[in-house]
Amino acid sequence: MKVAVIGGGASGIACAVSLKKQNKSVDVAVYEKMPRVMKKILATGNGRCNITNVYSSEEYFRGSTEFLKTAFEKYPPKENIRFFSSMGLLLREEAQGRVYPVSGQASSVVNILLSQCEGLNIGLFTDTEIDRIEKTENGFLLNGKIKADAVVISAGGSAAKSFGTDGGSFKMLKRLNIKTTKPVPALTGVIAENFPKALKGVRNICTVTLEENGKTLYTEKGEVQFNDYGLSGIPVMQFSGLAARLGFKNLFVRLDLLPDMGEASLLSFLSDIKKLYPEKSSEELVQGILPKALGNYMLLLCKIKRDCPLKNVSDEALKRLGRLIKNWKIKLAAVRDFEFAQTTSGGIDTDELCPKTLMSRKYRNLFVIGEAVNIDGLCGGHNLQWAWSSGRLCADSILKENKLVKNK
Ligand SMILES: Cc1cc2nc3c(=O)[nH]c(=O)nc-3n(C[C@H](O)[C@H](O)[C@H](O)COP(=O)(O)OP(=O)(O)OC[C@H]3O[C@@H](n4cnc5c(N)ncnc54)[C@H](O)[C@@H]3O)c2cc1C
Repeated sequence: MKVAVIGGGASGIACAVSLKKQNKSVDVAVYEKMPRVMKKILATGNGRCNITNVYSSEEYFRGSTEFLKTAFEKYPPKENIRFFSSMGLLLREEAQGRVYPVSGQASSVVNILLSQCEGLNIGLFTDTEIDRIEKTENGFLLNGKIKADAVVISAGGSAAKSFGTDGGSFKMLKRLNIKTTKPVPALTGVIAENFPKALKGVRNICTVTLEENGKTLYTEKGEVQFNDYGLSGIPVMQFSGLAARLGFKNLFVRLDLLPDMGEASLLSFLSDIKKLYPEKSSEELVQGILPKALGNYMLLLCKIKRDCPLKNVSDEALKRLGRLIKNWKIKLAAVRDFEFAQTTSGGIDTDELCPKTLMSRKYRNLFVIGEAVNIDGLCGGHNLQWAWSSGRLCADSILKENKLVKNK
């Protein structure tokens, strides 16, 4: 039996390795359009590869989260940790359940998988873009010339085109009449309306709250990065896919720039400083609380002059300043493009696939896995967890469907 895996990223390689480990007689070929496989993995986790998360479960995903169940029951994080350790890759759990290679290098993940591919005789065909899949009487024909009995679509989503992912999966499957939920960028920055360029480069720990018509949709505390276009950083990236899906008509972000201090304590602190140091400038006051550019921008919004001595700042204005620091409301305009996104929200409609096997409901022996499916995880190792688990479940399904399971 010949299995063609389209896309040599995390899910495709996990599927290929798992297939061959279970049954060496299956001929597995991976077709990758880039000059090398797994290029994206090298960039994950800032070059350290946040390979999974010990807490990964449906609650960390958006899209058709019910669909994850079988893959995560069979291959939960600890099972994927074991999968890698059985190949010789040691992993370590860090803060918030994030798991990384002990080596601290994403290249360790790639090299371990590459050596498995070599040892298991998996064909890696790089610089080979598949853009056409035809159903034949007994199987499939790729690009009008490559025959396969089963096809796995692991060509990713539309995010981060420089790693080879430009929505190829969706185009290929559209021609087979397989539906896609509109893909939008996720895990990226958000563009704010009339955002001040002067804040570019500022970083500050904030509580970030996404609101639609006054209703809280998401909230998280963490480091926010201020850019000339708007906001990024993990707490912002987490809701970017959700925001992109909702559209930006009534979306606002509220920033608490001083999350570890209550509003009442802040107001009394500001008033105490005013009493103690009446000659101190307003700029000096905010510099004791916030990064300089951010503090000065808060003064500007409150119409307090930077050089104004505190004794001349009214109690009312000081209260306004304190309240703004705790509750700065920013109107959102858009998310950044796919080019700057880490993942795709949307993708192949899960109604098209059987959740227990990941096989197409329309075409026997056609499977879709990884980011191509309408499931997206939050930051923290969840997307790779889905890539490994869906790849491994797919391998099992191919063997079962074709009665190739070997008795252990
Ligand atoms: C900068 C960055 C950092 C990230 N960090 C993390 C992290 O630390 N932890 C985490 O969990 N997730 C992270 N992610 C997300 C994670 O990398 C992806 O969700 C995951 O790699 C998806 O796996 P996949 O196999 O579905 O697709 P991909 O890994 O994207 O692989 C798809 C492959 O298919 C190839 N391809 C596409 N079209 C075709 C075609 N027509 N023919 C042949 N080949 C094709 C592509 O070139 C690519 O190699 C990060 C993403 C980015 C961009």
